[in-house]
Amino acid sequence: MNDDIRLLIDRTAADCIEGKTAGRDTIVQLLGIDPLSEEADYLRAKAGHAAQIITGGEAYLWGAIGVDSVPCSMNCRFCSFGEEWGLVKNSVVFDDHDIDRQVKLYASSDIHYIVLRTTEFYSIDELCAKIRRLKKLVPETCEFILNTGEFDDEIAAKMYDAGVSGIYHALRLREGIDTGFDPSVRKKTMQAVKDSPLKLISLVEPVGPEHTDEELADAFLVTMEYGAAISGIMARIPVPGTPLGDTEQISPERIAQITAVFRLAAGDKIRDICVHPPTPGAAFAGGNVTVVEMGAIPRDDKVSAAEWLGYTASDAKAMMEEAGYRVV
Ligand code: SF4
Repeated sequence: MNDDIRLLIDRTAADCIEGKTAGRDTIVQLLGIDPLSEEADYLRAKAGHAAQIITGGEAYLWGAIGVDSVPCSMNCRFCSFGEEWGLVKNSVVFDDHDIDRQVKLYASSDIHYIVLRTTEFYSIDELCAKIRRLKKLVPETCEFILNTGEFDDEIAAKMYDAGVSGIYHALRLREGIDTGFDPSVRKKTMQAVKDSPLKLISLVEPVGPEHTDEELADAFLVTMEYGAAISGIMARIPVPGTPLGDTEQISPERIAQITAVFRLAAGDKIRDICVHPPTPGAAFAGGNVTVVEMGAIPRDDKVSAAEWLGYTASDAKAMMEEAGYRVV
């Protein structure tokens, strides 16, 4: 093993356990390790160890419910809902009956974060009304998260009053190039979350093979800057028929490596690191949150009435337990 890299990993892991964050140069260097090397194995093991200390061995499951499968005029080049790609042949908007069923299923199967996810222009008033109603169906320990369009301080306050605990929002990789957004618009929404009592959950996404180590480092530092309670990595799942549909998916080893680097770089400023898609190697490398999803899926051209790809909360729980976590 290269001694300089081993020393860098040791130092970054020791700093993480002491609560210290890593700088951009360190993040870039660690991301530059060959994911198939023994140095990468060592990095992932050290990050897994640090995660057990930082998190107290706790893992969380994230259950997403895609509320609407409708053409979206923002035309993000990786998303099956992009209007221009024509993949949504029949729009589907799940009604309260369906959503109640999905929420109850999640609440009864160890899902901590129940997430309503929509396309960009879904009514936020409607989402707030849903949350008020849904809160009565689940134990108080479940937290409701929204993943929706842009909003300001006033709407953030409204969401919090409705019982929303946090917001998923991210400055996506190559925002404004692979998406239809001005990056400043996305950041404004993240600022509104930061300035509110809502938690921000923000991953580096959607990661493809073309993204450089520097881009990944910068995107991770944005999640830190906006005070994310949960950061992490979401790999892009290429959807045939979208402009990025014929690209490769990054390897499980690379997903686990990125997870490890973000775990170590976050110190104790970010307690929880999420990985999507669920990747066993990433759970061993410090990822302590993972995702189950149902309904409208931006990674697929079909809606999923049951858990997407058959991956259930029990599967996610087993994966986390095998990596040494307690699912809470
Ligand atoms: S990622 Fe979101 S904003 Fe972009 S096209 Fe899909 S639904 Fe619309």
